[in-house]
Amino acid sequence: MALNDILLRIRAAEAAAGRPERSVTLIAVSKVQPPERVRAVLEAGQRIFGENYVQEAQGKWPDWRAEFPGVELHMVGPLQSNKAKVAAELFDAIHTLDRASLAGRLARLADGMGRQPQLFVQVNTGSEPQKAGVLPESTDAFVAACRADGLRLDGAMCIPPEGEDPTPHFRLLRAIAEANGLPGLSMGMSADFEIAIAEGATHVRVGSAIFGERDYPAV
Ligand SMILES: *Cc1c(COP(=O)(O)O)cnc(C)c1O
Repeated sequence: MALNDILLRIRAAEAAAGRPERSVTLIAVSKVQPPERVRAVLEAGQRIFGENYVQEAQGKWPDWRAEFPGVELHMVGPLQSNKAKVAAELFDAIHTLDRASLAGRLARLADGMGRQPQLFVQVNTGSEPQKAGVLPESTDAFVAACRADGLRLDGAMCIPPEGEDPTPHFRLLRAIAEANGLPGLSMGMSADFEIAIAEGATHVRVGSAIFGERDYPAV
């Protein structure tokens, strides 16, 4: 199945970049996919999944989690502050931390729960007005403010602009992450995950190349 092809391509890209085997984590992005496709990928052994919508994830994952031990869920879509509590309880990682109000809320939730999901700061590497993410020049201050709130930060994430060469964006994200002591690099999707691995990605977020095209486009 397509999952195995993607895993082979990831291992090959790691080797080509001189990186250790399994240094890259595959997040299978299952948003809006029909349940039978997701089940097939679970049955093939994949356990790390990405979702974009809190409500959708909340509806479908509790049952699969009970059936397939070891499932890890990553939030990769924009997170509204009023969904932060549900998200902090449901997800093992949130890749879209992009504003102070959300950071404050997640810090309070982590205090209350006694644990915190992994957190990736989303950086708007293309400074696109319509896109979520902290602007590159604001990231150092944002990271410092999150840490002052008591958050533990695990990495940085970006979605390069459509139709542009992603390489400069991956390099910028890596430089920002290194400057801020962020070990994780969440970058690379179906069309460009091998390039992202060459540029140091630790987490690639692959959807359609595993599950097939989505019936309606992602936001
Ligand atoms: C949908 C989505 C993906 C997966 O996209 P594909 O092109 O289908 O691989 C990855 N990251 C984010 C943030 C997404 O919204």
